[in-house]
This record gives sequence, structure tokens and C-alpha cells, in this order.
Amino acid sequence: MYYGFDIGGTKIEFSVYDTSLNCVFNDRTPAPKKDYGQLLGIISDYVINADKQFSCKGDIGIGYPGVLDVTSKTLICPNLPSLHGQNIRVDLNQRLDRPITVQNDANCFALSECYKGAAENARIALAVTLGTGLGGAICINKQIIVGKNASAGEFGHMAIPGNMLQRHPELPVTFCGCGGQSCLETYCSGTGLAGLYKHYKILMDGSCSDQEALLGPDIIAAFERKEPVAEKVIDVYLDILAAALGDLTMLFDPDVLVFGGGLAKFSELYKQLPERMAHYTFTNMQLPELSMAVFGGEGGVRGAALLNYHAQ
Ligand SMILES: [Zn+2]
Repeated sequence: MYYGFDIGGTKIEFSVYDTSLNCVFNDRTPAPKKDYGQLLGIISDYVINADKQFSCKGDIGIGYPGVLDVTSKTLICPNLPSLHGQNIRVDLNQRLDRPITVQNDANCFALSECYKGAAENARIALAVTLGTGLGGAICINKQIIVGKNASAGEFGHMAIPGNMLQRHPELPVTFCGCGGQSCLETYCSGTGLAGLYKHYKILMDGSCSDQEALLGPDIIAAFERKEPVAEKVIDVYLDILAAALGDLTMLFDPDVLVFGGGLAKFSELYKQLPERMAHYTFTNMQLPELSMAVFGGEGGVRGAALLNYHAQ
């Protein structure tokens, strides 16, 4: 049996998969914000109960919302203080007497799509999650590329291509939580899209009240009813995303690019990005297939369970 935990900023999800990757158990519970001992207790209880229920000693994979500090081997998770600075792999290994595999949540999401998902037949697959943040991952032959600093695939923290400022000189200058300037995440995540909307609303209409400052789904709805600010914002949003994905295509020449996160359902991504990306790649190049994730919200926990499946 394969046990997967998806630790998010607000909840812990636990699933058990059999050897054919069927989900045979799923549950979720709020994530303790500050108490690391409580967090370890929740995970241990799930594991001990599942071992009893399924008469086995399941392999444990854990996805988390952050990055690994490769020097100290601790997790950097600013959005979940209970896990921040901890070495959960070692601490759970002591409690549960078995190896624990730990991986960034975007990497888990991508790995899940490599097994019976949108990247099943891909040799080189890139994943991009468009949610509160912008996550990314690279899988080659169904293996996550981790990198020297466990930071491979952090596409959200590439600066947007310089020609974007020539094409859209009115773009706001942004500062990212990572310390960088003009990171892709600050324009193309759900939060970035909302920031763009507010910026263009002020430019085009002179002001933007709190009620007028729309969030992702409302911006898409406004675009669909042809509201001028939303139309402009989506045009700029898709142009920036296409330029970044075009650059990634020149770097990796991937077979497939899988979208996850709340904005992955936005149909204009699949309609408009191919033609726009073609401006940033070689002429006549076969672009990667653009696909919505098959496993959607389940991807994180499923990919965590697959961390050990994949290792076999
Ligand atoms: Zn950044």
C-alpha cells in the first residue's frame, strides 16, 4: 500500500492507494498552524490506523507547501509555521520506523500526472500550477528533476522576459516574496492576475474601489461578458504567460505542459496560448500539448503516495 499526505497551508489530506493505484481511503483534517507535535501526531495516527485497517506497513510519501533547505535538510514553509524549519522526514522516521519520502507539492502534482494522467505518455513533461502562487515542476521519464538546491522547476520565480516591458510599458513593477523583482508568479498566479486587474482598472477607469478589485473567477467572468478592463488584463496576462512558456519550451522542448490550480479551468489558456507561444519559439516548432490536469485537486496527495511507487 502507498500512503500519501498532502500538507497544505490549511489542511492535511491523507489517501491510501493499492498497488494498482486505486484510492482505497481518503480523509482530511485541518493542519495545525503552529503546533509541530500535533502535526506529527495527526500523521502518525493516520499511519497507525491504516496499517491496522489494511494489515500492512505502507510506504509514506509527503507533499508540503514550500522548499527544502538542502544545507540544514529542514523545510522552508512560511505559510505553515508548524512545519517551517522542521525535518519531518527524520522525525516521522523515528516514530513510524520506515523510510519517509518528502517532496514539494508542485513536484507531487506533476508526478501524479505522469501516471495515468495528462503526462502519462510524455518523455519530458512540465507542470505549472496557477493558484494563489505559481508552482512548477519538471519530470523526465516519469522522474522528478529536483536539482542541486531542490529548486528545479520553480518557474514562478523567473523574472518575466524583458520584452514584456517593451510590449506593455504600462506594466506594474512587482516585488516577490522570494526577494526577487518582476517574478512570473507576481503577474501570472491567481494573486498576480488580481493585481494586474487592479492596476489596469486604475489606469483605464481612474480608480479601483475594494468592491471593484476583482479576484480570479470574477475576472474571468468579467472577461467573458467582454468588460474592457478584464479583456485588456487577460490579453496582457496571456501574453506574459505565453512568453514564459515559450522560453520554457526553448529550454526543455517538452512533450506536454500540464496546468493545475484554480486557473487551469480557464478555457482561453488552451485556445490562445499555442498561437501566442509560437511568437517566442522557433518557427514551425511543434509546441508541447497543453493539457488540464486529469487529477485536479487529488493530484497533490496522489503524487505524494506515488513518491515511493515511482522509486520502485
Ligand atoms: Zn519570486
